[in-house]
Amino acid sequence: MAALREDGWTPGSWRTKPFAQAVQYPDEAELESVLGTIKTLPPLVTPSEIDRLRDQVAAVQRNEAFLLHAGDCAESFEACTESNLRSKLGLILSVSLILIWGARVPIVRVGRIAGQYAKPRSAPTEVVQIRGEPVEVPSFRGDNVNGLSPTDRTPAPARLLQAYFYSSATLNHLRALLASGFASLGENHPSGWSLGHVRSRELRAEFTAIASALSDALDFSRVIGLSPSSSSSSPSPSSLPPSSSSSSSSTKPSPAHPHSHSPLDEVDFYTSHEGLMLGYEEALTRASHSTPHAYYNTSAHLLWIGDRTRQLTGAHVEYFRGIRNPIGVKVGPSMGGSEIVELLDILNPDKEPGRITLITRYGAGKVDAHLPTHIRAVRESRHPVAWICDPMHGNTQTTPSGIKTRHFSTIIAELTASFRIHAENGSRLQGDGFSVTECLGGSMGLREDELSLRYQTFCDPRLNFEQSLDLAFLVADHLRKERRGGAESAVYSALRNGV
Ligand code: PEP
Repeated sequence: MAALREDGWTPGSWRTKPFAQAVQYPDEAELESVLGTIKTLPPLVTPSEIDRLRDQVAAVQRNEAFLLHAGDCAESFEACTESNLRSKLGLILSVSLILIWGARVPIVRVGRIAGQYAKPRSAPTEVVQIRGEPVEVPSFRGDNVNGLSPTDRTPAPARLLQAYFYSSATLNHLRALLASGFASLGENHPSGWSLGHVRSRELRAEFTAIASALSDALDFSRVIGLSPSSSSSSPSPSSLPPSSSSSSSSTKPSPAHPHSHSPLDEVDFYTSHEGLMLGYEEALTRASHSTPHAYYNTSAHLLWIGDRTRQLTGAHVEYFRGIRNPIGVKVGPSMGGSEIVELLDILNPDKEPGRITLITRYGAGKVDAHLPTHIRAVRESRHPVAWICDPMHGNTQTTPSGIKTRHFSTIIAELTASFRIHAENGSRLQGDGFSVTECLGGSMGLREDELSLRYQTFCDPRLNFEQSLDLAFLVADHLRKERRGGAESAVYSALRNGV
């Protein structure tokens, strides 16, 4: 049996604390039996991959890399198909390429994928129409808790086991795609992107110019056998933690080798999800084989604490303080200036670099009121953090037909305000979070009446493919401007002005 840690933490010490967003299972014994099974299953990711991400987050904190946190708001079991995974990965890689173009620093890619099944809900019940009648049923909490169908809302522990296997199938396919050259820019080649959705001629021209400049540069690098990132110092985006074949930087192909892959053939790609279901997280928490008292959550590389579960004395903060993984902390308008520092003191008492990413999500109307206070409080505390903006989760609105969405313009507004506020306060926005499908607006001008036709998500609104690219170009343009100085481009001003 492992010796007790001085700080009193164990993988199960959260069980004595108040649990926000708790799920009431009808049969607790069945739940514990399922968790017991998960405890015997192999880890999904490894401690060395997790440590590697910590190093890369530390580079983000030093402004040597930019963090992209992208993927689904909530995954579903049903959507775990080959074509869905290919397109999600393709989109994230496309977005990261656009960001590389703008920032000229490595992009640390963290997908909201391979485990993002549970969702916090603002109310325990919701009213749905069953045979034309309004009926109050328990809220849908995500595929690893209950079913989307209003008649399948009783939490079932077996869904946690299913989540483990869907996560491992997803991860396996992502690892296989990346290891077999999916990121080689063949089918995801920028010049192959369809721009038919872009209604503004000015935007289309700018997109085309950027895409062709990017592909020319990459083709040139490939022809001369130079990796596009070989001159960048740190971190290297050029190896692939998820692949057993190239899990350390020492396996980086030699730039001089005529048949070596470009680094973008083999990219780092990490997984993440909200650590909401603590029983599941505990079951996948494993002691390090090499470092005494170190525990890793092996269900994902990065886990984040949601805005609704970050109470200082609550179960989630208790669990998160003890794991070695890099941690995301959602920061919304209800977070106080001193509270953010108290939280950092609990989660990262030794102020270790690479551990904390603050994911701000105030909403466009509130970012000016809160972000400056948080930046100042964190700076004075001398806690090392990476600041990233999630412009999705603070900007939700409900359409008259009851569909949750958000307007693209509010997303742009929060993001551009965050860039500005960081700069005004001597800080820097170091990453961006976005989730795919479906928002109103963007360069394809999605209207409210079109939304239900295209609505693909069952839980929370996300960006669609084209809007994700819009956003990527916007961020890239900002980063390029920051790097070079000078005026904003047509893309930037058109998007900011609500094309
Ligand atoms: C999320 O990121 O999926 C989420 C629910 O965020 P938040 O905790 O910020 O509401």
